Amino acid sequence: MAEAFRFRILQHGPAGSLARESFKPADPKPGWVRLELKAMALNRLDLWTTEGIPGYPLPLPITPGCDGAGTLEAMGEGTVLPPGVELGGSVMIAPGLSCGVCPACLRGDDMLCASYGVLGHICDGTAATHVLVPAANLLPIPGNWSFEQAAAFPLVFLTAWEMLVYKAALRPGETVLVWGGGSGVGSAAIQLVRALGGTAIAVVGSEAKAMQCWDLGAEHVIIRGDLKALSAKVRDLTGKRGVEVVFEHTGAATWTTSLVVCARGGRIVTCGATTGREATMDLRALFAKQIQIRGSYMGRREHLWTLLSLIQRNPTNPPFRPVIDQIFELSAYPEAQRHLEAGQGFGKVVCRI
Ligand SMILES: [Zn+2]
Repeated sequence: MAEAFRFRILQHGPAGSLARESFKPADPKPGWVRLELKAMALNRLDLWTTEGIPGYPLPLPITPGCDGAGTLEAMGEGTVLPPGVELGGSVMIAPGLSCGVCPACLRGDDMLCASYGVLGHICDGTAATHVLVPAANLLPIPGNWSFEQAAAFPLVFLTAWEMLVYKAALRPGETVLVWGGGSGVGSAAIQLVRALGGTAIAVVGSEAKAMQCWDLGAEHVIIRGDLKALSAKVRDLTGKRGVEVVFEHTGAATWTTSLVVCARGGRIVTCGATTGREATMDLRALFAKQIQIRGSYMGRREHLWTLLSLIQRNPTNPPFRPVIDQIFELSAYPEAQRHLEAGQGFGKVVCRI
């Protein structure tokens, strides 16, 4: 049997500062299962977990990694499996963990549970050959998708779906400005906007990324540069109206511009702050334009089943699919973290296991 190994954050440090160690995968407790992982995908959260978040102590040492796919190799006593999932079968993981018994969980708002957390952030995650997860977090892999595609799917599509459908309540015909169109969540958002009947204006950092955004279905692509020029371009593209929805995850560097380009009665939805977490804003713009600002973090686990059913209608030509930037071997996970942090790629960074 191949060596079981995992990466551990022993103490917080820059991206890629992890230790590799051999380990003996534990047996799952009742309600939980053990996967032999075949692929995992990186997210910004992997970097935040590694670097540490001021004011949010994390349990160290910890194995990062929120997204993963593999085969179901063991289950705890009496564990019940979700539909379409069987022992020995291929599965992907829903990354959110919650108590399952509180009022928020019972009404399906698991991401509002007081004990909500993400795999690889509050407990050991997928930068490993094996992982333990609750059976309720398993989903079948759609159609003929590879393990790499399955691993690259859940976190960013769940996040983008929650933001567009529930927080922004996007209506067909509306226009959405997607910052960071080349990121994992940005590339998911572009495709979902199109699938929901909206028009996506993607913002990217280079000509090469612009081409890929067109391919994903963005109606317009703006190469980021001078933000005043970008605002003027958005005005032109929207008949001076502005966009009904701004898809934010970039934070401090773009926040002011997000308010400027947002239409009257528009919505700004944010799930991140990659360029900085402290932003200022002109409150007159906020109230005079009657803008709504909504924060978003992950999404209802149930919605991954909705996304799955949309894919399974036509798995070979689904309305959206994960975009993979680069595939590393798991042994190069620290390097994959540094690649993600450099931000030069387009789509998801994946490790094959
Ligand atoms: Zn709960």
